[in-house]
Amino acid sequence: MTLANLNETVDGSNFISLLRQDLKSKGIVNISTVAEHMTALQDIQIRDGIYSYDRYLNNSSNSNADISSFLSGDTRDDCIVWCVNHYLGLNRHPEVIKATRNALDKFGTGSGTSAMSGGLSSLHIDLINKLQNMLNKECAMLFPTGYSANLGAISSLVTKDDLIIIDRDCHASIIDGCKLSGAKLVPFKNNDVGDLERKIDRFSKNYPNTIVIVESAYSMTGNLAPLKDYVELKKKHDFLLYVDEAHTFGIYGDQGRGYCQQLGILDSVDFIMGTLSKSTASIGGFVVSDKKYRPVMKFYSNAYLFQATIPPANAATILAAIDVFENNPELIDSLHYLNSYFRNKLTVLGFDLGQSESPVIPIYIENPSILFEMGKRLYEEGIFSVTVTYPAVKPKEGRIRFIVSTNHTTDQIDRTVDTLEKLGRELKIIS
Ligand code: PMP
Repeated sequence: MTLANLNETVDGSNFISLLRQDLKSKGIVNISTVAEHMTALQDIQIRDGIYSYDRYLNNSSNSNADISSFLSGDTRDDCIVWCVNHYLGLNRHPEVIKATRNALDKFGTGSGTSAMSGGLSSLHIDLINKLQNMLNKECAMLFPTGYSANLGAISSLVTKDDLIIIDRDCHASIIDGCKLSGAKLVPFKNNDVGDLERKIDRFSKNYPNTIVIVESAYSMTGNLAPLKDYVELKKKHDFLLYVDEAHTFGIYGDQGRGYCQQLGILDSVDFIMGTLSKSTASIGGFVVSDKKYRPVMKFYSNAYLFQATIPPANAATILAAIDVFENNPELIDSLHYLNSYFRNKLTVLGFDLGQSESPVIPIYIENPSILFEMGKRLYEEGIFSVTVTYPAVKPKEGRIRFIVSTNHTTDQIDRTVDTLEKLGRELKIIS
């Protein structure tokens, strides 16, 4: 393939992230040439209006915003935003903003260095104590992002001599942490307890440590995990259980203490990870556990040792956000109400939502051309959602993802559903 004939040979609905592999099979590996091909395919997708990434909000981070495209310059006013994870809408809450401002006045902006070497403030310590208390664990490790919490914690806990068994739908940050550890990595089928047990039986006897890593709710599917069954397996098999609660902390459990708390299994889960960028509307990640693991996670995690910690004002944001959802349970209830309201309407229309339950609602569209067309048409109608394709999901498992938040109104949901119905029928996604 040459650049000159890329237009004829490449279907615009190809995945940009698969192009490098395709080119390699044709003997094209030079990075400069690969980059040119990738840019050309991206330009084709922008020209055809099916490139749904790199868009930005001009005026708001609420559920309604004027959107522009960084790459095409295209602007669209008054869109309904369905792709951010501000589940509880606390990014705009007056108390949260006030606490953040006060912290800015007192502590200034950045933290300046890593937690170990002086980057912590009293606000960080308050946050660490708060997370420990909420999740009834002795130790909370605070990382700069959710991504680096998984990267740092997992790579510090296991070594190349150990075994990690993960749900095959786990987030990239978990997979990268596993790879960095060098441990033997074995995936099991999503939410399949039988498959997990078979993998434990088959592999774990050969390794001194086995850690099983799952998510409580999967980011790309909205499926909740059978965590109680995993905890049952611990009675028969010797392994550590690590649960990523990125999509459940703050929105499940009593006062938002998460899905493990809701299921009553906090004590049986060895490590609970959470991100602070979603329900708590800031940035950061944490891992809670028994305190004996603290030095391991500190001294063997480069993501902790060699990375600046979150700014003090972000710690204040998170503390204030937790305070709001702890004291306003109706906020979490309203999120679950809106989630049911939206997904029931889509189910009645016949859209394929898979097994999703959490406020992440995927509409599965297997055919990439139809998926891209749907994404494009939705955007033209003022519905801002992102088409999820490879590498976030397998090539044939494309979907459009709607993330429900308390910022959304039933009117916005109705408008979105009407548009989805119209386009869904036109594109023969529903009959
Ligand atoms: N874990 C999961 C399951 C996630 O979905 C994400 C982000 N979407 C992360 C970890 C990383 O969190 P953050 O974006 O806050 O770094």
